[in-house]
Amino acid sequence: MPQEVIPKSIREALERLIRIPTYGERSAGRFLYNLLKLPVNERLDIVKSLQESAENIRECRECGLYTEEEVCIICRDQRRSKKFICVVEEPQDAFAIERLERYTGVYHVLGGRIAPLEGISPSDLRIESLLERIERYRTKEVILATNPNLEGEATANYIAKLIKKQFPEVKVSRISHGLQFGSLIELADELSLEKSIENRKSL
Ligand SMILES: [Zn+2]
Repeated sequence: MPQEVIPKSIREALERLIRIPTYGERSAGRFLYNLLKLPVNERLDIVKSLQESAENIRECRECGLYTEEEVCIICRDQRRSKKFICVVEEPQDAFAIERLERYTGVYHVLGGRIAPLEGISPSDLRIESLLERIERYRTKEVILATNPNLEGEATANYIAKLIKKQFPEVKVSRISHGLQFGSLIELADELSLEKSIENRKSL
């Protein structure tokens, strides 16, 4: 099939969509062709929200959560205790925990996990600033809520060691295996997620 059969705007959109991490031709096609099934006004609503996110969302200067401000709403909230820092891989993991409306500390977003096979090393993650915040806040407990899979566990262990070495008085805990091994925090059901945080274990 000659390329020209596919309209230019579709070709260009697909080429750009596959630049999104984890997206391949399949996911790009799935997104775009299903979007095009919607009436034009609904397509445009989606595009408008995407544009607003693309333009306005940045990472909180303190914790790395997505925000439209310099500092996110959680870091700005005086009622949130900075004595507790919950470490997550991605902003959406923190959003999942927030949905439980139970946790009253702050977060720290690593921006990924240690994955040597993908060339992601500790220096690619927001670890230095975590240690800096622990010191500045005189944090009591760091809750490691990286995903319950091999890379998430390895990342949690790596960070736990660093904290214990540098701040022996700080409690370091790990969310429990109420969550199935290999699952993702952002997709966990609320009950399991709540249990895994409640039953966290000291490292
Ligand atoms: Zn923040």
